[in-house]
Amino acid sequence: MKIWTIRKHTLCVLLVGIILICSIVGVCYVVKATSSPKAQYTIVIDAGHGGKDGGAVGKTSGVTESELNLKYSLLLKKLCLEYGFRVILTRSDMNGLYSPFATNKKKSEMEKRRQIIEGAKADVVVSIHMNSFSSSQSRGSQVFYADNSSQGQKLAQSVQDSLHKNLDYAQKTAKVGDYFVLNCTDTPSILIECGFLSNPEEEMLLQEEDYQNKFCYDVLCGILLYFAFD
Ligand SMILES: [Zn+2]
Repeated sequence: MKIWTIRKHTLCVLLVGIILICSIVGVCYVVKATSSPKAQYTIVIDAGHGGKDGGAVGKTSGVTESELNLKYSLLLKKLCLEYGFRVILTRSDMNGLYSPFATNKKKSEMEKRRQIIEGAKADVVVSIHMNSFSSSQSRGSQVFYADNSSQGQKLAQSVQDSLHKNLDYAQKTAKVGDYFVLNCTDTPSILIECGFLSNPEEEMLLQEEDYQNKFCYDVLCGILLYFAFD
């Protein structure tokens, strides 16, 4: 019928309009407006390295990965709390997680991370790292997940999408990564290499407060989208 055809057409136009508006307003705002996470969702935020293990070091500024990881983790925690998540940090200061008496500090530290994740009964784990490579050309953020984890992949891609959409140089596709923190439990887990300390420009950018806030907000958006469509 003609009336139905017109209605169908009007509906299509309306839907296209809504999709366009959603794209313009931005995905975070839409998620915020349509769904907020359940208060009981628990996120473990894992600041990589710590103590004697400083991780990668920026050549220009001398900034250590462990201090940046902590800064990003604390910022992300603040944002996640604002959105109603329960947040557990694996470390909240510059001390290492290993036992001072451990002969194998790396093993001791990793075991501690696993214990915290299990003890938290986490819904998701987000581990924060900074990258480094022999070529100073490499830059951009990359999200990793465990090979056998479909939920981990879903979370990783959701965060990667958000970063790719909002930040220059961010990779498009999340990758499988063979990291202890991703493999140590069945909890959907991701490891974010936020950027390269071996790229002088990115090394400075990663230390800018505005960039740190924006980055963590983009990560939060990815997490929100994961839970919204879970
Ligand atoms: Zn690292």
